[in-house]
Amino acid sequence: MTSPFDFSLSRRRLLTAMGAGTALATTFPAFGLAAPTKKIVVIGGGMAGATVAKYLRLWSNKTVDVTIVEPSTTYVSNIMSNLVVTGQYLPSLLNYNWSKLATNYGVKIVKGSVTGVSANGSGWNVNVAGLATPLSCDRVVVAPGISFDTVLDNIAQPTAVLHAWQAGPQTTQLRDLLFALPPTGTFIMSIPPAPYRCPPGPYERACVIADYLKRNKPGARIVVLDANPDVMAEPANFKNAFSTLYGNNLTYLAGRKIKFITAGTANYSGTVTVDIVGTGFTENHAGDLLNIIPAQRAGLIAQSMGLCDDTGFAPVNGVSFESTIKPGIHVIGDAAKTSLPKAGHVGNQGAKICADAILRLFANQQPYATPTANSACYSPLSNTLASWLTAVYQYERQPDSSWKYVARDQISTQTGPTEAHGASTGNFTKMSTWYKTLMTETFA
Ligand SMILES: Cc1cc2nc3c(=O)[nH]c(=O)nc-3n(C[C@H](O)[C@H](O)[C@H](O)COP(=O)(O)OP(=O)(O)OC[C@H]3O[C@@H](n4cnc5c(N)ncnc54)[C@H](O)[C@@H]3O)c2cc1C
Repeated sequence: MTSPFDFSLSRRRLLTAMGAGTALATTFPAFGLAAPTKKIVVIGGGMAGATVAKYLRLWSNKTVDVTIVEPSTTYVSNIMSNLVVTGQYLPSLLNYNWSKLATNYGVKIVKGSVTGVSANGSGWNVNVAGLATPLSCDRVVVAPGISFDTVLDNIAQPTAVLHAWQAGPQTTQLRDLLFALPPTGTFIMSIPPAPYRCPPGPYERACVIADYLKRNKPGARIVVLDANPDVMAEPANFKNAFSTLYGNNLTYLAGRKIKFITAGTANYSGTVTVDIVGTGFTENHAGDLLNIIPAQRAGLIAQSMGLCDDTGFAPVNGVSFESTIKPGIHVIGDAAKTSLPKAGHVGNQGAKICADAILRLFANQQPYATPTANSACYSPLSNTLASWLTAVYQYERQPDSSWKYVARDQISTQTGPTEAHGASTGNFTKMSTWYKTLMTETFA
């Protein structure tokens, strides 16, 4: 079995990791394209979009034409951004760009926001703000990440929330306000109902903020209001950290769904009113700094293209990530509705499955029927300790004949991801290597 810490670079290795085995990997026919060259436009150059663009070029021997449309000049990584919030990492450690995808693989980069996609014969026209002529292509890959719900309980929020759940200016703003928190202040963070981006991410943030407060403001505390019934990822390690490392300054409350927020006088201070799920009661929590992470949906362009169902995410066929609503368009990364977690490493893996499927479809073959993705994720629990979570996701037929990705423990083969047996300083060191490797694998 492929190690979850092993970032496969070649299509042959991916096929092997997918369970295809050596025989298939070595006998798979060379990919040959009929003229004219096929064109693909990728909407969004984040973790998923950058990966699919790279691997479409790499695995087609640069015979397919791939364009990423992306409005930003710098990609700011969400991964590791919690350590920027606590001041341990410099913001520049989150910055990536697409120049190596252009020089190493010939991926074309168009700066701009996609405003819409329309059918053009058997292909598509992709409209980009500021471009007079749409980009035409054979297939579109939509990878816009997430958008945030702007209302709570049908009440417009009194003030824009500071979520810092899309790394960028809000990340450093949250850091600066954390540094300015009164010595006996209360930091409140909320966790939205699943599915949301990065299942362990909010618990990781709660831990590193509690650690920051413990070391720098011992009279201050953090209150975590979780809309979910329990810790959603790595429960043993996070609950252990909550009770042993942060028993004195962290209060974790599950089943607390935000009803509304009453703004306070200071920036992003106020009172959060929550429903205690299943009881009919509400609670008020006053905080000097509110870090509200709203519920999430697919990026707006996926919604406006009509790719999403009533969950707000885009249903796809798991073998190709092709939309089940609009064939010919693929949706990858956090915007897609699958049983995979919404995470950067998984986005990278799903993008490779999608790239492989598109190349097979161009060669008049079927996508590989039972792909496998893997995921590894380190979580800092303090400024020196980290744990990890890993899983192999196998695309499996279910008893009701549907198909989905099922997480398998790599040792016991039981369902569910595997978490580290405790946090360690060694994991904290390896986390840095893991991060750099994943980002290099995606952007270079
Ligand atoms: C605090 C935090 C910590 C995290 N830690 C981890 C971790 O340790 N491990 C892990 O695996 N994952 C982690 N994640 C999750 C990870 O960051 C996301 O799952 C991942 O970034 C999703 O990739 P994506 O490509 O779908 O979206 P993104 O990476 O957000 O990329 C989307 C891109 O689409 C572009 N875009 C949007 N709309 C348009 C449009 N109309 N036209 C053109 N471009 C558009 C955006 O500008 C953006 O560049 C973390 C997330 C957070 C918030």
